[in-house]
Amino acid sequence: MSPVHGPGPLLGRIGAREPGGHAGAAQGDTPTRTQVAIIGAGPAGLLLGQLLLRHGVDNVVLERQTAEHVLGRIRAGLIEQGTVDLLDEAGVGERLHREGLVHDGTQINVDGVRHRIDFKALTGKTVTVYGQTEITRDLMEARAAASGLTVYEAENVTPADFQGERPRVRYRHKGKDKEIECDFVAGCDGFHGICRQSAPAGSVQSYERVYPFGWLGLLCDTPPVSEELIYNRSARGFALCSMRSPSRSRYYVQCSLGDSVEDWPDERFWDELKQRLDPQARADLVTGPSIEKSIAPLRSFVAEPMRFGRMFLAGDAAHIVPPTGAKGLNLAASDVAFLARAFLEFYKENSPAGLDHYSARALARVWKAERFSWWMTTMLHNFDDAGGFDRKVQAAELDYVLGSRAASTSLAENYVGLPY
Ligand SMILES: Cc1cc2nc3c(=O)[nH]c(=O)nc-3n(C[C@H](O)[C@H](O)[C@H](O)COP(=O)(O)OP(=O)(O)OC[C@H]3O[C@@H](n4cnc5c(N)ncnc54)[C@H](O)[C@@H]3O)c2cc1C
Repeated sequence: MSPVHGPGPLLGRIGAREPGGHAGAAQGDTPTRTQVAIIGAGPAGLLLGQLLLRHGVDNVVLERQTAEHVLGRIRAGLIEQGTVDLLDEAGVGERLHREGLVHDGTQINVDGVRHRIDFKALTGKTVTVYGQTEITRDLMEARAAASGLTVYEAENVTPADFQGERPRVRYRHKGKDKEIECDFVAGCDGFHGICRQSAPAGSVQSYERVYPFGWLGLLCDTPPVSEELIYNRSARGFALCSMRSPSRSRYYVQCSLGDSVEDWPDERFWDELKQRLDPQARADLVTGPSIEKSIAPLRSFVAEPMRFGRMFLAGDAAHIVPPTGAKGLNLAASDVAFLARAFLEFYKENSPAGLDHYSARALARVWKAERFSWWMTTMLHNFDDAGGFDRKVQAAELDYVLGSRAASTSLAENYVGLPY
């Protein structure tokens, strides 16, 4: 793969913008040229776009869904300190600091007995509860305020010519075929996106583990059962008590892959959750009607490399983790940090070094988060095919983690996020 040589003349800032400050569909003429064409308006794409705009690097975001659809997806909720710092750097941290819930630790219930891991005491760091939906909303609003262009409902988005010097992205919008020429393509289009699929045949090495269960999630407007998250290991399977705010809770139970949401009316969900909690949590749990329910399969996946000529993958486009370690969104953020810095080095310092090292740098952190997410998943879930030996080792692992300061510190260090 040929490295990038020199930025050439900086491109002028282009004219087509979103007037009126709406985070909705693009208006006015769409540009034919930009510096970085970003595919996907999830957290990775919007955060990259915002960091680049703040430093005067022009970019256009192409998203196949509507803004409302993107905002309606209930996903991650736990933010590492590094992600908070990056959101501050992007100028979108104000509401997060006002409304986010800072957690000094987390709780782990093992067969009815609750333990606590004190992140702050063990690592000096904390995590923050603030929903992915809120981060996305803040980024959309900041992008609109900075007159950054997002083309929603862009169909058939296709990156092309990224192995050469002049990449372009073709798409269809409002019945018309369009094309943007760019210096670089950023593939921030999630696991099912087009960018990874567009890499030359045979150039992607994939690593994958699919877990034999899913998570059934329920969102409801009731106060959380505890001020901190509770991870529950029980003979009936894993459960997680999480939250989005002091009045909105998010609960999950490990379920069968063949289950559908229709199999789980609210009463069945609450009944099953209660059986997996410790007695105190069972007594404290406030139930209520669900406002969202969904099932997510659990998967570990990494595609290498994360760079193909002038196209770079970031976030779920390149890797997936099971949600047990709360790493998906945070990994998307660390990729974006590496990539944004690399683009800035290229444009501001005339150096392609950051771009040349991007894939290796990002993957080194990705694999550590993959390991942690796999380890948490393996330690806390029921595996149908586990034999007696596996179950004894799993119990010993938990006993060790909860009983050893060194092992607790290792969990805490990974949970609050490794540095980057
Ligand atoms: C159901 C679910 C629950 C989750 N829960 C958690 C959790 O509790 N904790 C956690 O840490 N992580 C969780 N995650 C993971 C986390 O949400 C992701 O890691 C995060 O969204 C990654 O951001 P991203 O921007 O890389 O990808 P995405 O958020 O997937 O964004 C990609 C964007 O690209 C767009 N796109 C796709 N294809 C195209 C195309 N061809 N053209 C144009 N646009 C395209 C998509 O519409 C989307 O808007 C969950 C994920 C899912 C699916």
